Parts: sequence; C-alpha cells; structure tokens
Amino acid sequence: MSFDTTQNPLAGVGQINPGEKPADVHPPVRPAVFADRARRFDALAAGHALGDYLRLLGRISALQHECLRDHPAVALPTADALARALEFSMPPVPVTGWPRDPAWRTHLKHIVAGLRTDATPAVAAVLDAIDAADEAELERLADAVLAADYAVEGAAGRLPLIAAALQVYWTHMACAPELAGLKRLDVDNVCPCCGSLPVTSVLRIGYEVANLRYLHCSICNTEWNLTRARCVSCGELQKISYRHIEGSQGSVRAECCEACHGYLKIVQQDKDPLVDPVADDLASLTLDLLVDEAGFERTGPNPLFIPGNTGEA
Ligand SMILES: [Zn+2]
Ligand SMILES: [Zn+2]
Repeated sequence: MSFDTTQNPLAGVGQINPGEKPADVHPPVRPAVFADRARRFDALAAGHALGDYLRLLGRISALQHECLRDHPAVALPTADALARALEFSMPPVPVTGWPRDPAWRTHLKHIVAGLRTDATPAVAAVLDAIDAADEAELERLADAVLAADYAVEGAAGRLPLIAAALQVYWTHMACAPELAGLKRLDVDNVCPCCGSLPVTSVLRIGYEVANLRYLHCSICNTEWNLTRARCVSCGELQKISYRHIEGSQGSVRAECCEACHGYLKIVQQDKDPLVDPVADDLASLTLDLLVDEAGFERTGPNPLFIPGNTGEA
C-alpha cells in the first residue's frame, strides 16, 4: 500500500500575522457532540473493514449522548478558582487534580447496560470485567485513562469504556455556562478547559472565520484555535508535510513534523462537511499504520482506542 505526500502549502503562514487572531476557544455543543458522532460512526461503518468495530463505537457515542442529556448537576470551579485559573493560564477543570464527581461511574453503568444487548462474547467479557470491578479499581483505571497511561495493569479492554464515561462528565463541565469565555493557554497544545492533549485537528467551515484550524480535546471535546501548518507538538513551522491514503478524498490527513517526528491527524470539513474529529480518526487507523511505518509517532491519544485491541473492543 502506498500513500501520497504533499509538501506544506502553508509553510510560514503562521509567521505572517503572529497574534492577529485572538485566543479562540469553542466549548462543545451539548445536543450535538455525541449525537453527531454516533451518526458519523454509523455512516463510516458501511462497507468498512472494521465496520462492526465502528458500529460498536457508534452505539457507545449514542449512549454518551443519553448520559450527557440527562447529566446531574455536579460541582464546578468557584468564581475565585476560575479567575485564578485564567490569571495563571491553567485549565479550570484539569483531568489530573480535579476532584472527580462519582457521576462518571453512573455513566459507565449506563454505557455497560446499553451494550449488553447483542454483545459479542468478547464485548460481554469486557462488560463483565467492568461490572466486577469495585469503585477503587474503577477510579484507578480512570486515573490511568486521564494520564494517557494505557499500559496500566488490568486494562484488558476496559479503558475505552471508562474513557467514554469520563468524556461525558468532562464534556458536561466544558459545556457549563460558568466556564464560558476560556482563553487559549500559554502552553497552547493542551486543552484550555481540562489540560488534555488533542485527539486530532479539525478544519472547520461555518465558524465565523472559515478555514481556521482547531485542536479537538481528547477528553472534554473543547476546541481551540492553533495556527495552521504548525507542529502541534513542537511548534515547528517549516518542516511540516501532509500524508493521506492514496485514493481517499483527503478529508483525513496526517500532519507530520520532520523536526520532532511527531504527527497528528487533521480532519477537513471543506473536503467532507460531516467529518468528526473522533470518529474519522478511528475510521482511518490504516493511515496511522502507514505514518508509523514512515517513522512518525502520534502526539495525541484517542482514548476510545487501545492499540492492539481493535478486534476485541
Ligand atoms: Zn479538554
Ligand atoms: Zn514537531
């Protein structure tokens, strides 16, 4: 299998108007974020080699939507704490350090119960393992997910579902009106709301200024603007190239950096208006394999995916 390489047509663009765009942070859209993702997973599953896997992720996304729709009230940062976070350029609800509300475990129960119907033996074994875990075990695995430590003991396929439940809880907080008006952090490659790494970039159409690049948080679904054609990991502007699967429409490309040998995918609404930063990432794992073979290492996780566990999940 081969793939196209195109040189960065925007090299240097970020240097032309430094600082011209103000910090630009978009919270997730509560009614749409998981519902749209569920529909996208289902659409991508049709005729796909990993169709069953993508359909399962679609069901998980639909269950996430239900949990978010019915989310109980949870504690949020006080006005003082929020002001301090903004003053010191810190995320207000950091995945490491924020006292988690047990509501996330209620989401996990809902997701597990929702997947019981028609579960394959492999999926049922994962559901059984989650049901058998006590609260301390689940909190330990949650710590691992939020630290992107996917090699933690006892993971055994459970981490994607634990991640799905945590995403609901953090997305709920990210949507809260109290957290509106966040600014991009000084360390601008982590989420301004929760401090997580981005799962992918997305080129959005329909925002007030088209063709801007946003990083999409791997946990809370917040998006924040970052100059296009700049390495998300090390900030390199010149040695950036793009790779996509030959014959694809190019709506998903890998932005590869020759300086740090990192890459992150970028999904483009101008090529396909329905792309989703999470679903299209998991439907293009072939691109990860090819870019990995070319010597690049992914710089942001997708916590719904654990390498090597695709068939089991
Ligand atoms: Zn976040
Ligand atoms: Zn780099």
